[in-house]
Amino acid sequence: MSSYWTPYAWLPDGCQAGVSFDVEQGRFAQVRAGVAPGAGQEILSGVTLPGLANGHSHAFHRGLRGRTHAEGGTFWTWREQMYGLARRLEPDSYLGLARAAFAEMAQAGYTAVGEFHYLHHDQEGRAYADPNAMGHALIQAATEAGIRLTLIDACYLAGGLAATGHLSLDPVQTRFADQDVDHWADRVGSLKAGDQVRVGAAVHSVRAVPAKALNKIAETAGERPLHVHLSEQPAENAATQAFYGRSPTELLDDHGLLGPRTTAVHATHLTDTDIKALGNTQTSACFCPTTERDLADGIGPARRLADSGSPLTLGSDQQAVIDPFEELRGLEMHERLVTGERGRFTPSDLIMIASETGYRSLGWPEGGRIVNGALADFVVVRADSVRTAGAHPDQLAYAATATDVDQVVIGGQVIVRDGRHRLGSPAELLTAALDQLGKA
Ligand SMILES: [Zn+2]
Repeated sequence: MSSYWTPYAWLPDGCQAGVSFDVEQGRFAQVRAGVAPGAGQEILSGVTLPGLANGHSHAFHRGLRGRTHAEGGTFWTWREQMYGLARRLEPDSYLGLARAAFAEMAQAGYTAVGEFHYLHHDQEGRAYADPNAMGHALIQAATEAGIRLTLIDACYLAGGLAATGHLSLDPVQTRFADQDVDHWADRVGSLKAGDQVRVGAAVHSVRAVPAKALNKIAETAGERPLHVHLSEQPAENAATQAFYGRSPTELLDDHGLLGPRTTAVHATHLTDTDIKALGNTQTSACFCPTTERDLADGIGPARRLADSGSPLTLGSDQQAVIDPFEELRGLEMHERLVTGERGRFTPSDLIMIASETGYRSLGWPEGGRIVNGALADFVVVRADSVRTAGAHPDQLAYAATATDVDQVVIGGQVIVRDGRHRLGSPAELLTAALDQLGKA
């Protein structure tokens, strides 16, 4: 058992002073506020946050950071560059990139990640000897990096959607695609959960999955999280409208895919009807503000979705930035730019979105909050850095960056201490992974 005291911690009812807690068998116990430190307790200086969830990640996109800006372009030209990287990865290089990305996430304060995984097969599009070789590389990477993982295995069947229907796969997309939805379901069925690993399912998008496969995916997901890229770009809406006469949200709704276990990723370009449908079904919406601005996607209707009943979550998506504070602030700041109002979300709202709601959307309802019996995942943020000095403890998240994360504990295990990951420097891991890829 370990016992801690911190001058400030975010508990479910807000930022509290003088908080003491124990960790027993990976869970919180004896959580108390308004107390002085006891003998033998480890003092966590700064502000202690519950574990922070990265609701949407493609780990290998970390290999693209700072390399895609020379030619301008759009989401679609960026996608060509991403495909260039996807074409070359093999299980060992995928492991190397993912380990570096997950270690960077943990060091930044993310304690759980939803890895939206679609790179399944070999360079010719054939199954590896282990059909889940790539998924197993992600599980190994997360385990070594110490981060809690939901492996969200995406079904991908078509090369895109035009007004006339779905397109055939191009050569790199054959790596993403299973033969049909039944083969996908069989493959996902053989993925095993572990202590810090759970399995979820995804519809890559309505571009990549014809409507006739949707029911089977929902059935395979069952009680587990079901994620889907939704209306990130106007072109997806236009093609879906042209072919189905429905919006992507309406199409998912028609097939019973919306609901409390479903997360719509991006949800950027929505109609009023879409917002109502997502809210009425309590479908979560995962915003990825640093990605959405990087890829020139647009600004989604975050406050309206929340008001309509959709829980919001946050993700780093394409890893242009790995910093939970940037995402959380991005959600609020984008709203400010659009509406001319400050405080569209309260500090409590933002912490809840980054922690408890995110955990729930990843299938860890017992985590993301500091209460007795919850998973002992927490993040200690320095309040004395050049960025955070002087900030009110309950507004620290508006000032902090990932660099201010001092300690990260996941399942009771110390993963980051004094700002350093137990595996060493994530930058060195990343450099080694890119070198390995360069030689492959
Ligand atoms: Zn994505």
